[in-house]
Amino acid sequence: EKPFNVVGLRAACIPVFLPLTVLYLLCVCRSPAASVLQWPPVLPTTAQLWDPLAPVLILGWMTLQIFLYLLPMGKLSEGMVLKDGSRLKYPINGFHALCITAVLLTLPLWLGMPLGYLFELLLPLAVCAIGVSFLLSLYLYICSFWAPHHALAQGGNTGNPLYDFFMGRELNPRIGSFDLKYFCELRPGLIGWVVINLGMLMKEVELRDSASLAMILVNSFQLLYVADALWHEEAVLTTMDIVHDGFGFMLAFGDLAWVPFTYGMQAAFLVVHPQSSRSHSVVYYIFRKSNSQKNQFRRDPMHPSVANLETIATATGKRLLVSGWWGLVRHPNYLGDLLMALAWSLPCGFNHFLPYFYVVYFTVLLIHREARDERHCRAKYGLAWDAYCRCVPYRIFPYVY
Ligand code: NDP
Repeated sequence: EKPFNVVGLRAACIPVFLPLTVLYLLCVCRSPAASVLQWPPVLPTTAQLWDPLAPVLILGWMTLQIFLYLLPMGKLSEGMVLKDGSRLKYPINGFHALCITAVLLTLPLWLGMPLGYLFELLLPLAVCAIGVSFLLSLYLYICSFWAPHHALAQGGNTGNPLYDFFMGRELNPRIGSFDLKYFCELRPGLIGWVVINLGMLMKEVELRDSASLAMILVNSFQLLYVADALWHEEAVLTTMDIVHDGFGFMLAFGDLAWVPFTYGMQAAFLVVHPQSSRSHSVVYYIFRKSNSQKNQFRRDPMHPSVANLETIATATGKRLLVSGWWGLVRHPNYLGDLLMALAWSLPCGFNHFLPYFYVVYFTVLLIHREARDERHCRAKYGLAWDAYCRCVPYRIFPYVY
């Protein structure tokens, strides 16, 4: 175990370092050289960082998404069993929210709303999103002291305030039936990401009269990714974020600032650096099928689509899949996700590293995440997990890792 103050120090540095990274990447990807090695970087002026329109847009956006979450559309689904034996209910209407947002955008766009202005607003919007994630995390941290003991997450309750603020103390903070973590996980950030992408496409049209193929491909791949996540929103209820992790700065910042402003960097890059290269790949299938297979198995192991798969019994009563996608590697869903990240960076060509930043960062994130999940699973399933690892020796990349 690491000494307490080292853990706290790291948790204190990350909330400073990561927001600066977002702003740095946004500045670099719009600079002519787009080189991450350019040092010292050109610092943005206050006027570039702040625009009064940005907080209005961010607050309007959050309000719209909260309103759509609360609309009585879609079904209600139950989450996994909690420590006190209860199960929370979640509205599965993220895809409806995406479609309604698209419809709501159509009219102002048709009337000539300059969505391309989002390109100029990227930095101020990111600054505001970072501010919102700090305020939200602070609210969550303070409120968690009123939560009952059984509602706290395993990881974020060390007593070290910095670490707990970062990891999140409460597992499922709610205001009435409104689930804050579940709401932030897929809606404002993910839908915001594709709207920002569309803004970049409009900017390109303003500058060059038409959208490039590379821009259309990046927009399409990323829209597919987001639409897919929302279409299969129910599957998020069995992921680590919802089942294990508390809701603190790590998830709030990740969902509201990191995802929309760094994952869509390729589109902003293409506005300044037009590319003619063309390349794409079909890797979505691995990602979707593996996630759905585990989700189906965890919800109903007798379902015909998973009933014939080979499994290992564990002492907890749950079984582990050892065939199908989960027999290929121990995290086939990570493999698919990484290949997809590569697919949507390729249209940006090979002259710059920056569009591949996401692939590199995501590889590091998923390798770290896999190690974290491995620790959980080994602690939870003991010998059965060792047996699973012997049957399925590779973690993410077959025959490599
Ligand atoms: P996973 O969906 O991989 O879930 C891990 C859990 O699955 C384990 O804790 C275990 O939980 C269960 N499990 C593991 N192995 C087996 C098995 N052989 N049989 C049955 N159950 C098993 O978790 P994540 O939340 O990490 O990932 C979900 C998706 O989200 C992935 O596609 C990932 O790539 C994506 N993701 C994307 C991010 C992004 O920034 N774009 C960030 C993080 C994730 P138990 O046994 O308790 O059910």
